[in-house]
Amino acid sequence: MRGRVTVAAPAKINLSLGVGPARDDGFHPLATVYQAVGLYDEVTVRPARENSLTVHGDGVDVCDVPTDATNLALRAAARLAAHHGVDEAVDMTVLKRIPVAGGMAGGSSDAAGALVACDALWETGTPQHELMALAAELGSDVPFCLVGGTAVGTGRGEVVMPAMSRGSYWWVLALAAEGLSTPDVFAEFDRLHAGSSVPEPEIPDGLMAALRTGDVEQLGTALSNDLQPAAFSLRPELEDLVALGLQGSAHGALVSGSGPTCLFLAEDETHAATLRELLVGSAPTLLLAPGPVPGARVIR
Ligand code: ATP
Repeated sequence: MRGRVTVAAPAKINLSLGVGPARDDGFHPLATVYQAVGLYDEVTVRPARENSLTVHGDGVDVCDVPTDATNLALRAAARLAAHHGVDEAVDMTVLKRIPVAGGMAGGSSDAAGALVACDALWETGTPQHELMALAAELGSDVPFCLVGGTAVGTGRGEVVMPAMSRGSYWWVLALAAEGLSTPDVFAEFDRLHAGSSVPEPEIPDGLMAALRTGDVEQLGTALSNDLQPAAFSLRPELEDLVALGLQGSAHGALVSGSGPTCLFLAEDETHAATLRELLVGSAPTLLLAPGPVPGARVIR
C-alpha cells in the first residue's frame, strides 16, 4: 500500500443543459454537454484506523461542507472499500477551490477524486467500467468527473459519452458569495413550468457542430441552459451579470448548471483577462479557467 495519494479533481460546466418533464420519482431527465475546466479540488488520502475528513477552503467558503460520513468523498471511499471487500480506512483531506453549491459539481468531483485516490492507495486496480458504475451510484455528475474532457450526459446525467471536440477554450468564471441548492433550482423550474408541457430534453445540433470544428464564436451562440430562468428567478442579479458579459465582448454567457456560478466564453486567455476586468465589481470572485481538461487524476 502507498503512504499517501493526492488527486486533482476538476470542476464541470454545462455547455448545454436540457431539462425534461419531471418523472414520477421527481427526477428530471437531462440531456447535457459537460466540459471539465481547470479549477481543481485536491483530495489527499492516507491509511488510517478509521475514516476521517478535514476540509480546507482555498478562496471558497467551506462551512456548508459536511465532514461526517455523509460527505460524498468519504462515501466514495467507503463504497470502493466495500466493492473490493477491503478492510481499510482513510484519513482524507479535501482542499476546495470549486465553489460549494456553485453548480460546478464540487462534491461530485471530490467523490470521483476519492475513488481514484483510494484505488491508487489500496492498489486495487479497479477497471474503468467498474469505477464508472460505482460513480453512477454515488451521484449523477460523478461519472463525468471521472472521465472529464467534453462529454454528452443523458439519463440523470450519469450516462456519459465522450463528445467529438476540437481545440480548447478559455472561460471567465464568476463565483457568487453564497451557493444555490440544486433541489431548490429544480423546484423553481417546476414552478415556472406548472401547467405547461415540458418537451423531452435535447442536445442542440449547433453546439455539437461548433465543438467538432472548434469554432468559439459558434460555440458562444449555441450555449444553453434550461435551468437559467429558474436561477435568475431565485437570484435576479445573475441576469444583469450575464447581460453585462454579453454586452461586453464575451462570445457567450450563461449560468453554470443550477448556478449561481456564471460563465463567460472568451476568444483566448488574453481576451479572458480583458473580460474579467470588465466584470470586476459585478461578482465577488472572478477566475480564468481553460477547458476541456482531463477528469480526476493522481498528481502526487
Ligand atoms: P451540482 O452542480 O452537482 O448540482 P453543486 O456544485 O451545485 O452540485 P456541491 O458543491 O457539490 O454543489 O454541493 C452541494 C451540497 O452537497 C453542499 O451544500 C454540501 O452540503 C453537500 N456535500 C457533500 N459532500 C460534499 C463535498 N465533498 N464537497 C462539497 N459539498 C458536499
